[in-house]
Formats: sequence, structure tokens, C-alpha cells
Amino acid sequence: MSRPSEQKRRVVKQAGLRPKPQPGPQGTAEQRAVAQQMPRKKGLGAAPSKRDLKAGLYDRQWLWGPVQGMFLGRTTDPVAREAAASGGVLTATLCGLFERGEVDAVLAVGLDPKEPAQPRYLVLASAQAVLAHAGSVYSYIPATELRRAVREAEMAGHTRLAVVCQPCLVPVVRRWQVRGDYGIQAVLSFFCGWNMTYNATEYLLGKAGIRPEEVRNLGYRRGPWPGGFGVTARDGREVRFGKESYELVNMMFLRPGCARCAYYMGEGADLVCGDAWLRNQPDLTSLLARTERGMELLEGVRSRERVELFHLEEETLLRMHWHNLRYKKYGMSPGMQRLTRWFGRPWVQRMAPFRLLSLASRWRRALKMGVDLERLEPVEGPLV
Ligand SMILES: Cc1cc2nc3c(=O)[nH]c(=O)nc-3n(C[C@H](O)[C@H](O)[C@H](O)COP(=O)(O)OP(=O)(O)OC[C@H]3O[C@@H](n4cnc5c(N)ncnc54)[C@H](O)[C@@H]3O)c2cc1C
Ligand code: SF4
Repeated sequence: MSRPSEQKRRVVKQAGLRPKPQPGPQGTAEQRAVAQQMPRKKGLGAAPSKRDLKAGLYDRQWLWGPVQGMFLGRTTDPVAREAAASGGVLTATLCGLFERGEVDAVLAVGLDPKEPAQPRYLVLASAQAVLAHAGSVYSYIPATELRRAVREAEMAGHTRLAVVCQPCLVPVVRRWQVRGDYGIQAVLSFFCGWNMTYNATEYLLGKAGIRPEEVRNLGYRRGPWPGGFGVTARDGREVRFGKESYELVNMMFLRPGCARCAYYMGEGADLVCGDAWLRNQPDLTSLLARTERGMELLEGVRSRERVELFHLEEETLLRMHWHNLRYKKYGMSPGMQRLTRWFGRPWVQRMAPFRLLSLASRWRRALKMGVDLERLEPVEGPLV
């Protein structure tokens, strides 16, 4: 026998009626401010030097925005950990929302089950569906695609939603929340350094020698952390490139709007997740809880032992992410501007030695990326 909520949904669908959305925790001053924001880079001249950073002489408000708590974390579910981009905390948090009965559906980007090489906003109506789409999708998603998905969720009768989105889409979702549209219960985002057009995926498939229509499945962070682009063809062929290959591909297919954008750490979302570039501690997510709601989301999974949380010092976060923070918040260096212009040319994209340059990136990353953390200090006791 079907549950009353399912029956209601079916009646609504059959009658072609739209269910009345349940208003979220709408309209706080904080949410209204986020709904209007559009930050601009400050210019490289305003960037603090390494010495200033060490001495703590930098504009905290500009670099971080509002933050209630910074943590490192990982899911305790080995399946989610394996499938996730970093420590799987984003997946665990979304699953936790279903477990506590707080949402009917999650809107998040994944690969379309019918067209496995095509990224899409999906309406995920269960924890199992969320788990099936763990992992990052490195492709720019326009706001129109999110709007299509939210209408699909509405037509399916979902009146309480959580949304995972690129930082630049957070203001869009907050505007819905402020108006009380679509029953937005939580806004989750991720660090977003370089985003690429879909041409990047096509380019990588070309390098793998697999056509989009031949793809059985693909992943942008497949394999042991930090993973890389991996694709399986319908005939069983498997190809994988390490994460370092994105350095070149990012430069070739950087979307012009992404080069100008000053969002990095999901400014204005409730909870934001990024990589933790720690040499001696793989598989961890860096976490910023930006609102009280963000702290509640983390506590909801921490108290049920779905995630482990560890303390994260501001200085460590800064050292792990300064390379991207500097470019996003102040500007791209002239050398990097020249490189992206050069690699953005179609003939360079055709001729560039992909494997050789990826190897060079691997060496560069081994020398320059990441910091060491002596030990992880667990977070004890309730966060809220
Ligand atoms: C385009 C992009 C750029 C990024 N750039 C950086 C960076 O520069 N530095 C950094 O530290 N981290 C970056 N990240 C974040 C990083 O890749 C992980 O997403 C983050 O660390 C969370 O890891 P997790 O294991 O907790 O998430 P997971 O448990 O793997 O969960 C990821 C969730 O996000 C959803 N999702 C995946 N991609 C998208 C998308 N494009 N839009 C909306 N929902 C999506 C999935 O459906 C899934 O529910 C980026 C992520 C993306 C998608
Ligand atoms: S880089 Fe900026 S504009 Fe591009 S997807 Fe990320 S947040 Fe949006």
C-alpha cells in the first residue's frame, strides 16, 4: 500500500496541479543580503603578501565572508567515501537530510543516467539516489538548468528541497528562499576555483579515444584520492587520467565568466565543501559552516556518527587554498593570463602534448601543492 504523501503526489500529478510549496526558513537579513550579492575581484595590487598572510594582516571578511565554523571531515560510510570527490561529507550530509525526514528531494548535478556523458541537474528523491551520484562534476552548469530542475521537482510534488550548487548560483537559490518559493530547506555549495565548458569533457573523451555515445559511465574524480577523469566505454575499455591533467584542461577550457568571477568558497551558502590539500591525510573534505543552519546540518550527521569532524585552523585553510583564493579574490597573475589565452586557442588545443604536460603538472603538484598536518584533532560535543 502506498503512503499518504505518495497518494497525494499522484493525485496532484494526475490533476496537473502544482502543490503549494512549504516555505523554508525564509527572509532573514543574512539570506536577503546573499540574494543580492555579486562580488568583484579587488585587483592584484590589493593582495596581501606572504609575509602579511603569516602575520594575519589580511581582510578576513573579504577572503572568507561569514563563517560560523571551519572543520575537516570525512564520512564513516566506506561506499560513500569511495565514490566521493574528497571525504564524502557532502553526500553524507544530503543523506542525513533524508534520514531525519527534513527534505523530499535534493537537487544536485550528476551524469544523466540516460546519457552518461552529459552533466545535468537531477532531482534525487532518496538517500540511495544521492549516494549513486556522489562525486564532483567539473563542468559549468547554467542557471537555466537549475531552474528546469526546480520546476521538475515542483511538478513531482516535492515541497521541501535542498540544493547543491556552484557558488555563483547561491544568490539565485537564496532569492527563491527569501520569496518562499520551492520550499528551500538548505543551500550547499563547494569551493569553485576553475570551472570549464563542456568542451573540456569532450576533449578528455577524445584523448581517451572514446566517443560520448560510447560512454557507459564516467567520473571526474575516479580512483583513489585525489582521483581523476575516468571513463568506461560500453565495450569495456577503461581509461583514466590523474587529477593533474585538469591543470592543462582548465587553462584550455576556462569559461571567460569563470575567469572574472570572485566567488570561491560558496559565499552565502549554509554549508560549503572543498578539498583538503593535506599531504599526509588523504580523503578529507574542508568544511565551512557559514550559517546556523550549516552548523545544524553538520551536527545532524556528526551526532549520528555519519561523519567524523576534526578541527581546522584558519591558517591551515589559507595555506591549502591560497593559490586559488589569490586568483579568485584579487586577480589572475599576468603570466597565467597569457597561458590561458595561449592554451585557449583552438590550434593549441589540437597540438598541445596532453600527456607530457600532464606529467609536468604532476611533478609541479608534488612539489608545490599541499601542507602537512601533524595530527587530526577530533571535534567533541555538540556544535549547536
Ligand atoms: C566545478 C567544481 C569546481 C571545484 N573546484 C574546487 C577547487 O578549486 N578547490 C577545491 O578545494 N575544491 C573544489 N571543488 C570541490 C570538490 O571537488 C568537492 O566537491 C568537495 O571537496 C566536496 O567533496 P565531498 O567528497 O564532500 O563531496 P561528495 O560527497 O563527492 O558530494 C558531491 C555532491 O555534489 C554534487 N555535485 C557534484 N558536482 C556538482 C556541480 N557541478 N554542481 C552541483 N552539484 C554538484 C553531487 O551530485 C554530490 O551530491 C570543486 C567542485 C566542483 C563541482
Ligand atoms: S568559477 Fe565562478 S562563475 Fe564559474 S562556476 Fe564557479 S562560481 Fe560560477
